[in-house]
Amino acid sequence: MRLRWGFVSEFAAVLERLPDGTVKQRHPISGTQVWTVPGRGNRPLVPPPVAHHRLDPAADGKHCAFCHLRYLETTPEKARLVRLEGTPPGAREWRTLTGLTAEQLTDTIAEFRLVPNLFEIVSLDYWRANHGYTVPSELAARRAAYVGTLGGLSHVERLMAIKADSGGSVDSLFGGFHDVVIARRHFVEDALCDDELAGAGTLTLEEHRHYLAFTVAAMRAMYVTNPRVRNVAVFQNWLRPAGASFDHLHKQLVGLDTLGTSREREERLLAENPDAIVNSGRPLALAHDLLIAENEHAFAFAGVGHRFPSVEVWSKDADALPWELSRAALDGWSDLLHACHRATGVHVPTNEEWHYRPPLSPGTAPLRAVLKWRVNTSAGFEGGTEIHVNTIDPWAVRDRVADRLSSDAGPALP
Ligand SMILES: [Zn+2]
Repeated sequence: MRLRWGFVSEFAAVLERLPDGTVKQRHPISGTQVWTVPGRGNRPLVPPPVAHHRLDPAADGKHCAFCHLRYLETTPEKARLVRLEGTPPGAREWRTLTGLTAEQLTDTIAEFRLVPNLFEIVSLDYWRANHGYTVPSELAARRAAYVGTLGGLSHVERLMAIKADSGGSVDSLFGGFHDVVIARRHFVEDALCDDELAGAGTLTLEEHRHYLAFTVAAMRAMYVTNPRVRNVAVFQNWLRPAGASFDHLHKQLVGLDTLGTSREREERLLAENPDAIVNSGRPLALAHDLLIAENEHAFAFAGVGHRFPSVEVWSKDADALPWELSRAALDGWSDLLHACHRATGVHVPTNEEWHYRPPLSPGTAPLRAVLKWRVNTSAGFEGGTEIHVNTIDPWAVRDRVADRLSSDAGPALP
């Protein structure tokens, strides 16, 4: 493959193994420097399992505030995805429901729900005060309808009491710009013990495809609802060490009025070289033999220059915005990401971060997810030098994931 703009020599500099075995990495876009010191790569990803406990059947459906018997502990839903009896009988159709009253919440069990975050990073009042944002009439109508039932009114009053200390208006319970997509299960079906968590890799392929499509639709809705939103950050924190409040699968979306440092850096690079992002994917992976797997629509490789061992999953469609991808292309990307979650296992704390080109931004940048294994902790050395020590080098990440994918032996990566 012929690479433009001297990327071959630049790739040599982004990843090298020194004679003593130390691996030095530099992120091709951000320049983040990471070292991997020899002899640490074969350690288990997570400590040996602590004693697990049998689940109490009485707690079924109410282990945390994201569980399905505790719907009223989250904000009023923007939407839910359900599976209903379809035609022919026995077929189950996926359908999106919106505008449910508090009383209707328990009529169905949601496969995925979209709810505003009770404690927003960027509040609705921020948008009002700084950008003159006004709540659209549909949203005002939705709020009025919701508090028009007894159940809805008491739900909203209870949430406002919880929010009392942090401030915020009733409107933010219905339509702010920090949303959560919550999956149905806390534990896998028929789980007996509390270590059988329903992580992303335990979803079926079909469920994971709907999870991503539902998230993409929510992301698009933020851009449409508020033209001042310049970037919607999408991420999934899995387990507490990765920043999750509950061990219950969910993604978050945060609308921002700024691109953020990393996207700004990307735009500067793209202005100099339109292929900068694309070249930091497949060509880099091939140059260093980091490719793990691919299908018709996506490829996965071990990432270079991340603070944590990382797997990247890229859509092969470099130009499409996430919601412009065909369903087949989005599903292909979903399947590969799902496989990487499966290979990682549910006991490894992870961050899944989405990157893509925001709609008003120029340049070429495909939809991609970086799946980071939060298995090391930054310390004083990193703070003082801005050189990060990552315990597993990209080739070791490649081998670990590729081994799991080829055996597909199910959940845990040792
Ligand atoms: Zn839960």
